[in-house]
Amino acid sequence: MRAITVVPGDPASAELSELPDPEPGPRDLLVEPLLLGVCGTDREIVAGLHGEPPPGDERLVLGHELLARVLAAPAESAVQEGDLVAGIVRRPDPEPCVCCASGEWDMCRNGRYTERGIKGRHGYGAELVTLETEFAVPLAPELGELGVLMEPASILAKAWEQIDRIAGRACGGHHRALVTGAGPIGLLAALMGAQRGLEVYVLDRAEAGLKRELVSGLGAAYHTGSVEELCTWAEPDIIVECTGVAQLVIDAMQHNAPGAIVCLTGVAANRNLTFDVGALNNEVVLENDVVFGSVNANRRHFEQARDALANADHEWLRRLITRRVPLDSWQDALEKGADDIKTVVELPAAASSGRGG
Ligand code: BGC
Repeated sequence: MRAITVVPGDPASAELSELPDPEPGPRDLLVEPLLLGVCGTDREIVAGLHGEPPPGDERLVLGHELLARVLAAPAESAVQEGDLVAGIVRRPDPEPCVCCASGEWDMCRNGRYTERGIKGRHGYGAELVTLETEFAVPLAPELGELGVLMEPASILAKAWEQIDRIAGRACGGHHRALVTGAGPIGLLAALMGAQRGLEVYVLDRAEAGLKRELVSGLGAAYHTGSVEELCTWAEPDIIVECTGVAQLVIDAMQHNAPGAIVCLTGVAANRNLTFDVGALNNEVVLENDVVFGSVNANRRHFEQARDALANADHEWLRRLITRRVPLDSWQDALEKGADDIKTVVELPAAASSGRGG
């Protein structure tokens, strides 16, 4: 079978490799991937900046945003041949830490977790994949190919779950959310804010085009100015920062309403910035703000993502998938055009099963 592989740390190593078909263990599903989403983490791994192969291997099979069809399942499994599933990314650390021991591996305390296609485990970018039954999440049947959005949506389901919990610490009443960045993560953050009945503002650099239309489609407001300017009149009490751009991160922490909750979901690209730490401290302390980071997702978050996607306008979700690239030319999926939102690699099994969903 063919698989997308890379030698982590080597930016010239990504290729389509021929590998032996995988052998499912007694508790594994054998699945055929249909669509594979590509994100910034994949681009970083291909660029040699991130990623770790499984112990003893030189190459890592890439890919962690999986939509697949089940080919074979163990007898007592909740899923059956023909079902569509998404694959959970992280696996608990072997010790396990207090969080991994209770199924909250997204909050792993000792850093010894593994992640398929990212850290110490082969990913889902292959024509055949084995998937541990307990890490397969069946789709809401009506989602069809939109199920490829399950993994990125799980990241926001986790972020919003944390925001909801923090909002419960005193008085509640948060109702204006700012999302920075209108890529797939930002748009899914905005979707879930709108689904909570919040007033949602989305900030991005793109002046016109699809991003603006998609934000309007949620009943949210789209802006291209600065966070500071927007915050002076919109006074967001929730900010979901989805770019990792250092200036936006600082602005989000500094310009918000009293009692604000600031959730950071991006990984910083440009880390050098000079700013007044004392002023930032005072801003956070004197307004009882909470600034927190959020990464990854556990099974509960995948299930929340499934509900959020099932309840969303499916035409709106379909427009998030702006490009489909066949496996043969998968490297094209790494390029990012101005109007690209989510690019997916189409595996041969998807082409042969038609474009349902
Ligand atoms: C994935 C997460 C993962 C994170 C860090 C993201 O792209 O969606 O599941 O935890 O990268 O490796």
